[in-house]
Amino acid sequence: RKGNVIITGASSGLGLATAKALADTGKWHVIMACRDFLKAQRAAKSAGIDKENFIVMHLDLSSLDSVRQFVDNFKRSGKPLDVLVCNAAVYQPTAKEPSFTADGFELSVGTNHLGHFLLARLLLDDLKTSDYPSKRLIIVGSITGNTNTLAGNVPPKANLGDLRGMAGGLSGTNSSVMIDGGEFDGAKAYKDSKVCNMLTMQEFHRRYHEETGITFASLYPGCIATTGLFREHIPLFRLLFPPFQKYITKGYVSEEESGKRLAQVVGEPSLTKSGVYWSWNKTSASFENQLSEEASDVEKARKLWEVSEKLVGLA
Ligand code: NDP
Repeated sequence: RKGNVIITGASSGLGLATAKALADTGKWHVIMACRDFLKAQRAAKSAGIDKENFIVMHLDLSSLDSVRQFVDNFKRSGKPLDVLVCNAAVYQPTAKEPSFTADGFELSVGTNHLGHFLLARLLLDDLKTSDYPSKRLIIVGSITGNTNTLAGNVPPKANLGDLRGMAGGLSGTNSSVMIDGGEFDGAKAYKDSKVCNMLTMQEFHRRYHEETGITFASLYPGCIATTGLFREHIPLFRLLFPPFQKYITKGYVSEEESGKRLAQVVGEPSLTKSGVYWSWNKTSASFENQLSEEASDVEKARKLWEVSEKLVGLA
């Protein structure tokens, strides 16, 4: 049978390119989990994804109710779940004031981390019971959260501190809008959320890999400078960022190529190792990359897991 893969945020950028790459193989049925149903339908059509190979299901990661509703709907469809890809993200580099999810969490961490954390936890049993030969849970990471890299050292740097702001509810009251308890900074909130994504992948691996055989992995797909992620940046940045990445840093990767990379992590028989953060070198060969000290901190990963459980109502 075909593999069933859920991809969050498949209505543009990396998620859409990955949906296309997988659907085109004829071996995958893609469930595009998107907040804007019509946009996702149109995107799939204009990317030329065969309608036999995908469906769109509504999911808004900035609402825990919506996450639970999505999981119920998926379970009711009776389809097995073979791979889950947590890809969607928001990035608010120019926001002066924080915005909040339906549950009152700062938007970037609330959506990119907490929404995905609840989704992955609620779907873990479905992955467990699937009879697919290689079951995987993939959480898209980023170089920007990794302070052991040049890109990760551009201020403001990611830093979760002792998670005091998160323990305080990420609600914007009592200096708890940022995970570390600091002042609101939209670019930092995004980077922090990516560190959470990478820590969560590793904590899943430690807790569940041996027992379930599920492969847990993260990746940095390259700098996809053209995606909607940068939609809130100032126009001059959006104009100059793609050529800067292409010709100066040479970290640029096209949406199509990034989609092929993530599709490898979903389906390549050679990429079954669990607990790994994949990257690609200049010739587009994959390798196991090193995470920064913070993004591989075992104690922090455990604490993040526990605090997140409380915030999403699992504990
Ligand atoms: P895009 O903005 O193109 O795609 C983001 C997707 O997330 C969109 O489909 C968007 O939906 C969706 N999304 C946003 N908020 C929500 C929500 N509340 N509920 C459901 N879906 C939501 O960006 P990219 O393709 O670049 O980003 C994809 C992933 O790649 C992210 O995890 C990002 O961190 C990562 N990444 C990107 C890099 C880059 O250079 N671009 C580099 C490294 C990592 P909608 O279409 O409705 O807006």
